[in-house]
Amino acid sequence: MESQSPPRRRRKNRKSAAGRIITTLFCFAVFLFCFCLASMLRNRQNDVSDSNSLSVQASSPQESKLSLEKEGEDDWKLILVNQDHPLPDGYVVHTVLLSNGEQVDERMYPALQDMFDEMRENGVYPVVASGYRTTQMQQQILDDKIQEFESQGLSYEEAKSSAEEWVALPGYSEHESGLAVDINADGIHSTGEEVYSWLSENADQYGFIQRYPEDKTEITGIAYEPWHYRYVGEKAAAEIKKQGICLEEYLGEAKEQEN
Ligand SMILES: [Zn+2]
Repeated sequence: MESQSPPRRRRKNRKSAAGRIITTLFCFAVFLFCFCLASMLRNRQNDVSDSNSLSVQASSPQESKLSLEKEGEDDWKLILVNQDHPLPDGYVVHTVLLSNGEQVDERMYPALQDMFDEMRENGVYPVVASGYRTTQMQQQILDDKIQEFESQGLSYEEAKSSAEEWVALPGYSEHESGLAVDINADGIHSTGEEVYSWLSENADQYGFIQRYPEDKTEITGIAYEPWHYRYVGEKAAAEIKKQGICLEEYLGEAKEQEN
């Protein structure tokens, strides 16, 4: 009988050794499971950031243009800013800084760059004399104009009213949209006439219109400005040029002619 206890103890020892192995294996399995789970989660996160970066790539100009057209949301190109239509409250402009310090709306910048490249290839050398303006900048331009008239002997009221015939009120200038540019000649290789003439013939192919034509001053309320171009997109620009109309007429917003 006594001889039976050692084997039993040995069996017990074997049993507990087996238990330890099972426990170790179990712990290892749990560890392995946790490790796999953690790395799976990590991979999933990577997938999310990958798809995020893809969607950033998808908002490159061409892609976003396509998706905007699909949703019919390229209205930004046709925003109307004039004496009767101020910029909407809280209108945000994302701009691109040009080499001469001027800024333009980043969505129209590629078209502007293409047009300038084409002009230079044709031996015409333009510059953006004025692009995006903040409301404060527009106010400053108006104040300067008022001072200019006052220095010519006009009273403040007279100077103010004269200045407002030339300079749009802050909040009412198309330059505040970032979609308008005053394009002049570089003054070295080209003359203003060469630049204006090229633009008037070709700018529509790049989606730009001459915003204040000579024969539309009664509708636009702005004197003829051969240098002021507005981005409206190629489709609208082609139609506006073909019909010989201004933006107000194209949008059905032309005021009744007062007789
Ligand atoms: Zn202008």
